[in-house]
Amino acid sequence: MTDHACPCGSGKKFQSCCNLFLSGQAYPNTAENLMRSRYCAYAMGNLAYLRKTWHPDTYPDLRQEDLETQWTRLEVIKSKAGLKRSVVEFKAWYSENEQEHVIHEVSLFKLYKKKWVYLEALPEWPEEGRT
Ligand SMILES: [Zn+2]
Repeated sequence: MTDHACPCGSGKKFQSCCNLFLSGQAYPNTAENLMRSRYCAYAMGNLAYLRKTWHPDTYPDLRQEDLETQWTRLEVIKSKAGLKRSVVEFKAWYSENEQEHVIHEVSLFKLYKKKWVYLEALPEWPEEGRT
């Protein structure tokens, strides 16, 4: 089951991509890799991984029922890595009632206890110098 293409769209096999993070063998060393692995966690209903990679100040007390969306595809549009904060813009597609929908988000990630975690969605791509 782990030999298929990674759902995050990296072009790598799941086993040598996000599965390394979801299984706890490694922790993502960039915000973009973290974002990709979190997409996989959403797609696979891995609540524990989402909690682990969410800043405790903004964690929304997710429930398993919140993870029933049928995610189909991820596209990372751009990412900007900072020393303590990083921004990743992406589109993620899901299907609902046999129709495809897309969400478009700019996510802010923060270094927390020396690991990247998801903080929050931003209203737009931040101006230069503000990350
Ligand atoms: Zn992946």
